[in-house]
Amino acid sequence: MTAVSDELRCLVIERAGNCCEYCLLNQADNTFSFHIDHIISEKHGGETAAQNLCLSCPICNSFKGSDIGSIDHQTKHLTPLYNPRQQVWSEHFQLNGGVIEPRTPEARVRIFLLRLNQLDRVFERQELSSLGRYPCHPPSQNHET
Ligand SMILES: [Zn+2]
Repeated sequence: MTAVSDELRCLVIERAGNCCEYCLLNQADNTFSFHIDHIISEKHGGETAAQNLCLSCPICNSFKGSDIGSIDHQTKHLTPLYNPRQQVWSEHFQLNGGVIEPRTPEARVRIFLLRLNQLDRVFERQELSSLGRYPCHPPSQNHET
């Protein structure tokens, strides 16, 4: 696995506004440091470059592993995972209390694979939301590096 330089790490964290780009948790509300995730894993030819990296909380990252897609149980089709560098979160997901709901098949497989709506995660989001600390808001959600 290629090491991510400090410069690249800083860029990814700053670009994400310190938020997990999958579940919108703020790193400041987490005990453990967030991970720099290869959206397309190196195993599948993904580069260690800004346009292929995102900030991920340890839970999202551990469930994702090197996966890049899954079977959408609604369409039964092999579906790529939502890609935070090419797609906009709010166009693919919506929040309903602490539950993250899908708007698209890409979001549905992402929610399934990352277990985004595990009960403890939903409760954590509801708790943080009641404190005004969820969702975390990235400074911009553009498609550039
Ligand atoms: Zn997360």
